[in-house]
Amino acid sequence: MDKQQYKFSIKTVDCYFDADFSLLEELVPKEKAVIITDENIASLYAKTFAGWKVIAVKPGEENKQQATVDSVIGQLIKLQADRETFIIGVGGGVVTDIAGYAASVYMRGIKFAFVPTSILAMVDAAVGGKNGVDVGMYKNLVGVIRHPEFLLYNYSFLKTLPQDEWVSGFAEIIKHACIKDTAMFELLENNSLEEFQNSSSKIAELIKRNVEIKYNVVSNDEFETGERKLLNFGHTIGHAIENIYKIPHGNAVSIGMVAACKISETINGFPVEGSQRVIALLKKYHLPVDLKFDKEKIWEVLLMDKKKSGDTMNFILLNKIGDAIVKPVSLPQLKDLIN
Ligand code: ADP
Ligand code: ZN
Repeated sequence: MDKQQYKFSIKTVDCYFDADFSLLEELVPKEKAVIITDENIASLYAKTFAGWKVIAVKPGEENKQQATVDSVIGQLIKLQADRETFIIGVGGGVVTDIAGYAASVYMRGIKFAFVPTSILAMVDAAVGGKNGVDVGMYKNLVGVIRHPEFLLYNYSFLKTLPQDEWVSGFAEIIKHACIKDTAMFELLENNSLEEFQNSSSKIAELIKRNVEIKYNVVSNDEFETGERKLLNFGHTIGHAIENIYKIPHGNAVSIGMVAACKISETINGFPVEGSQRVIALLKKYHLPVDLKFDKEKIWEVLLMDKKKSGDTMNFILLNKIGDAIVKPVSLPQLKDLIN
């Protein structure tokens, strides 16, 4: 086990890497804890959760909605949860977002922690304090910024993670490499998904490195006035694609990153060879790079994006691999670029 502390303005988050699930009992008294997870994980890990109070929500992004939070709150009341209750979100990004949000509003906020079980949750969703739900098609429209007390990383959960979820999660890892870490980009080029899946030390190291990238970006800009926006690389068009085609988040972000690379070529002097390397890396990790999508529909959804301000939209563009900037793009210019 390897304990790190991540300091934010209002809270220090303890992070237990390479820990066993049994550590949880030492960190939170069982009688005070309520685990929030999804039905898939609840049934796969029924033995692991024996003796804990468990609320299992319906799995999937389509259930990351206020109605699910209402149902969680109803179940917390039934369990007689009070201000001393400690919520533990055990699952992928959908679970950690719902658990952190429900804990933040129940009785105006009770303590919570995360045990992320998917690659995406481990490297992205569980880190940085953003929790919330989608409202209809609007991604993460409602939520809070509030940090967990601790994060517990138990990599053995990854043994049951479906292949599609591995692939989707690697999109965020490649995103981190593109915006912040040239050396990690090369490391990814020189390895493969299969190598990371087959080596517990390789995947552990990679996950920790990504947690640190995300932590550094977030702690420099907790309330997203500047640098944190870089984490949206590939996400503007990605979210639009995800909304329209209902494909996994990482797959949509992968296509969004290809689009952002092309836009970077046109208006930011990003070399064509740079885009080619990004595309080759995404393909190597089995992510889609196809840009054939309904441009009219994408455009309609983009116009409703919360990153839009007036008639410009902030876009994350690459200068070079490992180095990104935020650039305002006017809507007419963006329309041209998309077409
Ligand atoms: P995210 O991709 O944001 O992490 P979810 O929370 O929806 O999204 O998780 C993706 C899917 O993977 C869900 O169906 C969830 O039940 C499943 N899942 C997450 N972690 C594991 C795991 N360790 N083993 C098996 N299935 C998992
Ligand atoms: Zn994402």
